[in-house]
Amino acid sequence: MVLEAPGTPLREAELPDPQPGPGQVLLHVRACGVCRTDLHVADGELPKPKLPLVLGHQIVGVTDDGRRLGVPWLGWTDGTCRYCRSGRENLCDGARFTGYNLDGGYAELAVADERYCLPIPDGYGDVDAAPLLCAGLIGYRSLRLAGDAERLGLYGFGSSAHIVAQVARHEGRRVFAFTKPGDGATQAFARSLGAEWAGGADERPPDELDAAIVFAPAGELVPAALAVLAKGGTVVCAGIHMSDIPSFPYDLLWNERQIRSVANLTRADGEEFLALAARAPIRVEVETLPLAEANEALDRIRSGRARGSTVLVV
Ligand SMILES: [Zn+2]
Ligand SMILES: [Zn+2]
Repeated sequence: MVLEAPGTPLREAELPDPQPGPGQVLLHVRACGVCRTDLHVADGELPKPKLPLVLGHQIVGVTDDGRRLGVPWLGWTDGTCRYCRSGRENLCDGARFTGYNLDGGYAELAVADERYCLPIPDGYGDVDAAPLLCAGLIGYRSLRLAGDAERLGLYGFGSSAHIVAQVARHEGRRVFAFTKPGDGATQAFARSLGAEWAGGADERPPDELDAAIVFAPAGELVPAALAVLAKGGTVVCAGIHMSDIPSFPYDLLWNERQIRSVANLTRADGEEFLALAARAPIRVEVETLPLAEANEALDRIRSGRARGSTVLVV
């Protein structure tokens, strides 16, 4: 499935087989998770994607010699810039991202730099493993950047939050889930995964929060989250794109509250998280669609109809 221009639907196309270059592996794609970032690329909210482009950066595929590998968002780094040299390859100046600067996994075949591929834990099927590769991984990094918060708020309870909620519970944290006002089904889903409270993003939780992770791309959630944060708390913005954050009184930030974003992942995040997911174990709630229905999959996320994670099956 190919994106030819932002703002147009993906088109089914027969492309020449991708040829692996030096250090790359050829993968027979089994499953590819659909991420909100794919939607931002398709809708033209992220600048200068490779075009035409194959979207998809949560790829589970098999090599010709039978190894099962995961391909995440971080597809390549230069290894030489000041970020790479200081253990922050997620911020690499020259980074290339899967399904954005590099062709991704909404396809039957994909190539990837083997150094950035992650081994898939044996306990996971292809479909269940795919959402771990971005929803899980970025969620995990967001949780780490939220510090040792005991009372954790999650704004937007989709693919990423439903995994993070389980990791947080596994670590003994208390989880509070915020959804679109009135979305009782998603609130019930959040409670079924261990949230002690679930309500609308316009509601006050029964206790103040030590940290909040904002997954929904709505800037107005940032001051809303600050307003229910305890002193010293952190708001972590987990998405790659967000609407403008409205101005708010300094009082909301005062008392050492902070706001920060999370960008991309490092390979170390990937290894740590996949080991933890297998150990916990994290259960992924998945809705599958065939590859040819990639546009419908994107639409489900756009309209908030997706529940848990959406995965294309090849
Ligand atoms: Zn670099
Ligand atoms: Zn993603």
